[in-house]
Amino acid sequence: MNDERDVWVREVGTRDGLQSIATVFPTAAKLDWIRLEAAAGVPEIEVGSFVPPKLLPQMADSAEVVRGAKAIAGLRVAALVPNLRGAENAFAAGADQLNYVVSVSEAHSQANVRKSVAQALDEFAAIMEYRRNHPEYAHVRVASGLATAFGCTIAGPVDPADVVRAAERLVELGADELAVADTVGYGNPAQCRRIFAAVLDVAGDIPVGAHFHDTRGLGLANVDAALEVGVRRFDASLAGLGGCPYAPGASGNIVTEDLVFMLEAMGLRTGIDLDGLLAARELMARHLDGEPTHGAFVTAGAPKGFVAASRAA
Ligand code: ZN
Repeated sequence: MNDERDVWVREVGTRDGLQSIATVFPTAAKLDWIRLEAAAGVPEIEVGSFVPPKLLPQMADSAEVVRGAKAIAGLRVAALVPNLRGAENAFAAGADQLNYVVSVSEAHSQANVRKSVAQALDEFAAIMEYRRNHPEYAHVRVASGLATAFGCTIAGPVDPADVVRAAERLVELGADELAVADTVGYGNPAQCRRIFAAVLDVAGDIPVGAHFHDTRGLGLANVDAALEVGVRRFDASLAGLGGCPYAPGASGNIVTEDLVFMLEAMGLRTGIDLDGLLAARELMARHLDGEPTHGAFVTAGAPKGFVAASRAA
């Protein structure tokens, strides 16, 4: 497998997927899954979330999962942190990257974390200050997502100017990376081109990733649109695990295997081996308790004569 990557794919099924299904995975099963995906060449995995266990019992073992995943050579171990408290715990556990989230929609921010957008940005500033005051964590990357950037289930449409304003503020505060998220699967390709072009513009040298949900079947179309304007980092979930426990059949993030197949077929090297992903998928699916899995590559396989870009000489 080639060491060079044109596109950086981050697995988020172990966080975004697992937090939205009923099955609670044992710690060992999470780590087996993480090990197989890392062996397939996935460079970064968001392995958990440092939320109070009361809220998300599925994520209660996140510190242990971070420590276990850190034993895997070459893997960037990321964790979601909803606030400073969670960030302190993730730093202490040894995560390589912390992913904070600001909801761009005022209504969603209030409903989700009981903070205004401005207060959520202040919390990010507090996390950055904590890192500054703790030189032992200076090497840990701190990123922020911009949730509900393409629309919100409470407020409906979200003004792209609000997305850009929040991105600008996160850049000012020193974010190492941004991820623009279509949290509820409202986005379309035309919207993606506009919003990503605008955010890339204010981000300068800071990498900007895309986080899509396939709720309305536009996930990979949105990836193509984001690629067109220069985005080279994507979140995805193995077997599209996720959705919503209250909406049976609703799909989660875009499917990692399908995303990797599309990118490799387009000549973009991900450094990820599709057979390795399918092996990880099989192991992961064994632990599911009736939750649906998604994806087309797993059923159809590769087209005749297909050569993955990462395998081409
Ligand atoms: Zn998500």
